[in-house]
Formats: sequence, structure tokens, C-alpha cells
Amino acid sequence: MSRRRIIVLGGGIAGLSTAHSLARSQGQAGEVEVTLVERERRHDVHSTGRSAEILRVAVNDPITRALALETDRLFEDPVAAGLDAESLVDRTGLLVLNSGAPSWTADLERRGIVTRPDAASLRRLAPDLREAEDALRLEGRAYWFERGGRIRGERLVASLVSSAQRAGVTLLRNAGDAEVVSERGAVRGVRLHDGRLLDAEDVVVAAGAWSGPMARGLGVDLPLRTTRRHMFMTSPDPGSAPDSSSDSGSDSDSDSGRGNTAPVVWDDDAAFYIRREGSRWGISICDVLEASTQAPLYPVDPEIERMATEAVAGWVRRPGAALPLERGWSGFRDLSPDDRPILGPDPRLGGLHWCCGLGGHGMTLSLGLGRAAASAILGQPTELAAQCTVGRFESVLA
Ligand SMILES: Cc1cc2nc3c(=O)[nH]c(=O)nc-3n(C[C@H](O)[C@H](O)[C@H](O)COP(=O)(O)OP(=O)(O)OC[C@H]3O[C@@H](n4cnc5c(N)ncnc54)[C@H](O)[C@@H]3O)c2cc1C
Repeated sequence: MSRRRIIVLGGGIAGLSTAHSLARSQGQAGEVEVTLVERERRHDVHSTGRSAEILRVAVNDPITRALALETDRLFEDPVAAGLDAESLVDRTGLLVLNSGAPSWTADLERRGIVTRPDAASLRRLAPDLREAEDALRLEGRAYWFERGGRIRGERLVASLVSSAQRAGVTLLRNAGDAEVVSERGAVRGVRLHDGRLLDAEDVVVAAGAWSGPMARGLGVDLPLRTTRRHMFMTSPDPGSAPDSSSDSGSDSDSDSGRGNTAPVVWDDDAAFYIRREGSRWGISICDVLEASTQAPLYPVDPEIERMATEAVAGWVRRPGAALPLERGWSGFRDLSPDDRPILGPDPRLGGLHWCCGLGGHGMTLSLGLGRAAASAILGQPTELAAQCTVGRFESVLA
């Protein structure tokens, strides 16, 4: 019996996780031959390597939240999830500050995933917070996620790469810009930058911010908004308590927060998050800038940098001295209208599938997302996957 050839186009976290899950589904849905095509030499050049790596299941959309919870469960036992890695998360705890009535609270409180501690118990749970105590104004709006924290992004990517290869995925890295080729209402395969055509019955577009433009090139619109967000790293904080982590200070070393014990703090009201990185702080003012893949990639906006410097001064107060930002970067976030990823087959073109629209949740959704996408691509969608298809946007398909 011939094998079904599936090409995954894009090898960030979405493509890697999907390719891994597809190859692991071997046999359950017939034989598949999976090839992953990535433009760059590395998998973390774009959003996947530019994230804050915060594991946050406090998400309003119930389906996205369920995918996040599924991923959190899979992170607990990476070997059972088919990964050759040990711990993939630093479970430092996550403190979310929100004085509104976010819709995730009831569900997550019922499951015992979040608690509402008073300031005294918070200080006991997270002694490092004393440094920013006044600015936090904790009481009445604090939600404590004991199992939240920081995903070890570099380790997750490396493990998905090696585990996918072991499961039989062919990786084509450094492939340049590849494009989907279609004829007579169905995909035919993928044309590589060097002109070679790889034939396939199915193509999964997992191209992050490039997915929308790719859809338009195929004549099928996707309701995605391309935005950009910044993240900054402060210089070493002379007043910070010693931390057990290494202090490489390199943003390319996304594992540098290893061993951190300080909780991540995310203030929804102020649109600000802060996490410890050795003696530095990684921060974002949660900016949402309209962006385009056509413009020069990843500039750092001076106005955002100025606002971020001010925000740090308000949060990490040091007598007599501000804490300057040492460096910053930005990255794409491709947002869908309901903050839920777009997964699975597109009824407008035979053999075309999506795994995109991860927004600000890509690292948090990683493993659950790959599983859901694979189930939909193989025609056996899980309940969650069935709620993520492009078909939910009737206006787009009309
Ligand atoms: C500043 C910032 C902070 C964030 N913080 C968090 C966080 O704390 N927690 C969280 O869960 N998420 C966070 N995110 C979101 C997360 O980073 C993204 O959702 C996720 O990385 C998206 O992954 P992706 O695989 O869809 O995209 P990408 O990582 O961009 O991967 C897409 C890949 O497709 C490839 N590609 C594109 N076009 C082609 C082509 N024509 N041919 C071949 N290859 C192609 C690209 O080279 C790229 O490698 C953050 C994002 C940013 C920018």
C-alpha cells in the first residue's frame, strides 16, 4: 500500500510539533511519510526563538485554554509524549494580576489550578516578590498558578527535532522560501527555493506570520492579523537576591533561565510581565503593533523601548538608580479573531491544511497543538481539533 505523503511547511514550534505527532500516528491512520521544510538553518530564528516562554493556561477562549491544559499535562511526562527530554518547564509559579472578571477564573478555580492567596501567603510562596511589593498591589486581584512558569524553549525545540527524526520525519532545513503548488483544486506538493518540486497528497502550512500571505497567494483568505511584540532584558540587578540559575545574559540561549526560582509575574491590568533571568529581568509591556512580513524584520521601536524603561523603573525600584535595559528584540504574533489557532483541512483546496494563528500562546500550546493538528490532518479530529478548523469563520469561506 502506498504511503500518504505529507509536507509540513514551516519548522517553528507549530510545524515541529505537528510533524512529530503526525509521524507518531503512524499505523493508526495508515502509513504516512512526513517531510518538514524549513527556510532557515535553525528552527528558532523567528517567533519560536523570540518568545518569553511563559507557560500560561489562563486564557479566555475555552478551546485554546483546553489545548494549553493538555500541553501542561504532556509537559509533565515528556517521555510518555514521545520526547527524549527530561523536564521541559521551570515550574516557578505564575502570578497573574487582574482586577476584572476574566472568564478563565471559574473553570481554573474549579479544577484547582489557580488559587487566590492573600498578600501574606503570597510573600511566603514567592519571597522574591518582596523586591516589587509596592508596585504589585497584590490583594484582591492576585491569581496564583503553582504549576505555571517558564518553558525551556531551546530544550523543547531540540527534543522535538530529535524525536521527530527518530519517528521518521525527514527534515529539510535551510530550504529557502518554499511555496505550495496546486492544480485542479488540490495541492500537488511544495516547490523548494531551488526549483525542485516535492510531490505530496497533503501540505500543512505552519509558517507563522507567513501563513496569511501564503494563503492569499493560493487565493484563499485567512482571518489572521500580523502583529509584533517586544521583549527586553535589563542589565544585572545589583539588588536582586542570588538565584540558582546560570546568568549567560544571552537571548539566543533561551535555556538561560534554567533553575530560576522566582515566579513569573503577569499584570493584565497594566499590560506588563516580568520574569527573572539570573540577575537580570526579562520584561514586556505587552505591546501589540501592526506588522507585515514585507517590512524589514524585527526592528526595536524606540518609543516601546522608552515605555519599557519607564515600566521597569516602576516595578523593580532600586534606591537611587534605575535599572537600564541591556537589549531588546521583537517578534511576530499572528492573531486569529477569537484567539484560537487555525488547524486542519481547508475545504477550499484539497489536501491543504493549516497550523497557524498561535498568537501569544505558541509555546504554551506546543505539544497539545501538534496532537490536535495531526488528528485533524489525518481525518480523525479530536473534539478540540474539530473546534479549531478554518470552517468556524463562515464569513471567510462564503
Ligand atoms: C515577544 C514575544 C513574546 C512571546 N511570549 C510568549 C509566551 O510567553 N508564551 C507563549 O506561549 N508564547 C509566546 N509568544 C508566542 C510564540 O512565540 C508564538 O506563538 C510561536 O512561536 C509561533 O510559532 P510558529 O511555529 O507558528 O511560528 P514561527 O516560529 O515564526 O515559525 C514559522 C516558521 O515557518 C518558516 N517559514 C515561513 N515561510 C516559509 C517558507 N515560505 N518556506 C519555508 N519555511 C517558511 C519560518 O522560517 C519559521 O521558522 C511570544 C511571541 C513574541 C513575539
